[in-house]
Amino acid sequence: MIDLLLRGCRLPDREGVADVGIAEGRIVAVGVVDQRARETVEVRGRLVTPGLVEAHIHLDKALLMGRVRGSAGTLEEAIRLTGEAKRGFTVEDIRTRARQVLDLAVAAGTTAMRSHVEVDPIVGLAGMAAVLPLKGEYAPALDLQICAFAQEGILQAPGTEALLRQALQMGADLVGGVPYNDTDPVKHIEIVFSLAREFDVDADFHVDFFDEPEHLHIREIAKQTVRAGWHGRVAVGHLTELAALPPRGQDAVIADIVTAGIGVISLPATDLYLIARLTPIRRLLAAGVPVALATNNVRNLFTPVGTADLAHMAFLAAVAAHMGTSTQMRELVATLTTLPARILRLRDYGLAVGCRADLLVWECERPEEIVAAVPPRSLVVKNGRVTIEHERRRREVWRRREGL
Ligand SMILES: [Zn+2]
Repeated sequence: MIDLLLRGCRLPDREGVADVGIAEGRIVAVGVVDQRARETVEVRGRLVTPGLVEAHIHLDKALLMGRVRGSAGTLEEAIRLTGEAKRGFTVEDIRTRARQVLDLAVAAGTTAMRSHVEVDPIVGLAGMAAVLPLKGEYAPALDLQICAFAQEGILQAPGTEALLRQALQMGADLVGGVPYNDTDPVKHIEIVFSLAREFDVDADFHVDFFDEPEHLHIREIAKQTVRAGWHGRVAVGHLTELAALPPRGQDAVIADIVTAGIGVISLPATDLYLIARLTPIRRLLAAGVPVALATNNVRNLFTPVGTADLAHMAFLAAVAAHMGTSTQMRELVATLTTLPARILRLRDYGLAVGCRADLLVWECERPEEIVAAVPPRSLVVKNGRVTIEHERRRREVWRRREGL
């Protein structure tokens, strides 16, 4: 007797349909499954993928649109105005907004997430206190990683290094920096790596988020990644400056990224809104770099729109990065699933027997449709248990009227 049987699933890399059998939170059979199950779901030929993996989101500063005045013309302005709004944050307020975003993400089929949580002299550890308990609260639906993030800089915001250390002692999963928002970017990166080594955690940087290649801190991060022996344990978000380099210059930087084993996270909604440029996704993928698409911000000054549904990011990237072939659209699906799973170092992720049963049923048949049409989800499974059932009903009333 197995726990759950999904009957008649269309799987991305397989002809026809297959059943997926699940027991004790894991996939135990794929194909024709005859075993009896405690619960059976008729999938009726719809597409099943592993759960979506959100590699980069800010739960603590989401949903601020009614609260901030004006609109930010630039990244610097967005950081400054959000810093002002942050003075009014309370633990309860942060937690309420974070829950709203988590609920959207879970309903959209996200089963793992990395959230940055700002730690600095303005907000102190309130963001950590607000978000940390949500790891346990949402564990039945989603695995939440928390990155203690120095949004205001480290050297230009004295006290931040000690706060980051406290956040890691509280239970942050990893440490994050933003070298372009500090007085000494090299030293900033060194401090992040020293904390990563001290606590044996991964590191994640906001990097090179400008239109012109005026920083290229990625080169320093790659150097320090190799020096620290942190291969496969470092991710960078944005990296829009890379796209402004001539092709040969891009290839040289990408070679450094490959050598250091760094994952790259493109944030299409924010990057297009503030910079109108994405990192060179196709070139990075072609070089074998794990590339993730992620949400980053949901309805704040950095990104005034957002649904926490990762499929929208693939839709945007298909247009902005000109990725319209069947192969490219399937690669885009990988940037929401298997590739961010690698960056977050999720264990046993996927559709193979033995993998954790974190699964998503889509209202479509082919993976390309995820990108092309952002189809509704019908069912989400986390750790082998159904977490979300969507019911949809549409009555085409006008047809009946026509028939009269
Ligand atoms: Zn971010």
